[in-house]
Amino acid sequence: MIGRGQDIFDYFRFAISIALKAEDKYEKRKAVVGAIGWRRDGAIVHAFNAGDQRHRSPQTHAEFRCCRKMEKYAPEIYVARITRNDGKMALAKPCSTCFAILKNRKIQRVYYTISDFEYGVIDFKREFEKSGIRFL
Ligand SMILES: [Zn+2]
Repeated sequence: MIGRGQDIFDYFRFAISIALKAEDKYEKRKAVVGAIGWRRDGAIVHAFNAGDQRHRSPQTHAEFRCCRKMEKYAPEIYVARITRNDGKMALAKPCSTCFAILKNRKIQRVYYTISDFEYGVIDFKREFEKSGIRFL
C-alpha cells in the first residue's frame, strides 16, 4: 500500500512497479518510465510511458498521460525512470512539452528521479505564489 507521508523514493518505486507491469504488453525497452500523481481529493492516479518505435510523441510520456488524469492545482506528481539492464534510477526530468502541460495544469510540485540517491523538484507552487496565485 502507498499512502501519504512515505519516503519520496517509495513513490518513485511504486511508479516504476506499475510501469513494469504495464510494460509486459509492450516491446522491451532500455528504460522504463512511470508516473504517479496525487489528486486534490487524495486519490492517486498513475501512468506509464506508452511510446513505441512508431509512437514517440510526448503525448505517450508517462507524466503527460498521468497529468491528464489530474485536475488543475493537483498537489504532486512523481516521475521515475529506471534503466532496464541494471534497474537503477535514472534521469526522468520532464521534457519541454511535459513541462509545459504540467505548468499549464498548475500541478504544484513535480518530483523526478536523477539517480538511486538523488531526485529533482520543479516547484511550480512557489512560482505561482510569487505571481499572486494562492492555494487553499
Ligand atoms: Zn515528455
